[in-house]
Amino acid sequence: MYMLSIKNIHANVEGKEILKGINLEIKPGEVHAIMGPNGSGKSTLASVLAGREEYEVTEGEVSFLNKNLLELSPEDRAREGLFLAFQYPVEIPGVSTTNFIKAAVNEKRKYHGLEPLDSVSFLKIMKEKMALVEIDQSLLSRSINEGFSGGEKKRNEIFQMAMLEPKLAILDETDSGLDIDALRIVANGINKLHNPERAVLVITHYQRLLEYIQPDFVHVLYNGRIVKSGTKELALELEEKGYDFITDEVDLTA
Ligand code: ADP
Ligand code: MG
Ligand code: MG
Repeated sequence: MYMLSIKNIHANVEGKEILKGINLEIKPGEVHAIMGPNGSGKSTLASVLAGREEYEVTEGEVSFLNKNLLELSPEDRAREGLFLAFQYPVEIPGVSTTNFIKAAVNEKRKYHGLEPLDSVSFLKIMKEKMALVEIDQSLLSRSINEGFSGGEKKRNEIFQMAMLEPKLAILDETDSGLDIDALRIVANGINKLHNPERAVLVITHYQRLLEYIQPDFVHVLYNGRIVKSGTKELALELEEKGYDFITDEVDLTA
């Protein structure tokens, strides 16, 4: 049974076709990595899954937990259990990270017909997750993302993920400024939060992130299509040979 099933997705940005028939199926418990050269459409795929308005789906279907994902609002996608790290990079002066996350957690609970968490329960869960992702209390009392370093933003993202307990986490690691500490934070978060009911889709340009996480499947996205899929060995092969050994072949047969 698939958690996420993407069938022949085509998508336009500003009238130009960027995704040209993406197929991808993810089962609970699986970790998938999407890699590919810059400009391939990796972030576009993440944006389509997130439901960003600028991205127009012209063909294809996406089902998530047996629902038609494309019919859901971005908010409802999140409430259904889809987590997109870059959905919350905003700075909100005057709103502490704690209060922001509390609101998000309770909104999700409400959507699923659950009572909001009382303060004691919330604090207890928060402490557990803080320990798990090794985030400091002082970060949580600061205004969300305001003046956060790259590493602090990542830690905060992973903490949000821990608190929201998504079914499917999509992490688009576009940030070229991501240093080795930030990579470790992301990787540790994924490794600790991953379990047989949850799945992770990591989008990365960097082979080195995959030194810290163990993807079950690796896909190469190129020119709007997944042109090769394999296991972790594919990432190692890419590391060794670069993307050209795949993209040259695709260009020749195009
Ligand atoms: P990747 O994440 O693989 O580097 P992107 O999905 O960011 O690739 O971009 C794929 C292509 O789509 C690029 O040619 C990019 O310029 C274009 N594109 C993506 N988002 C936008 C946007 N919001 N407006 C205009 N062009 C975009
Ligand atoms: Mg890019
Ligand atoms: Mg990108």
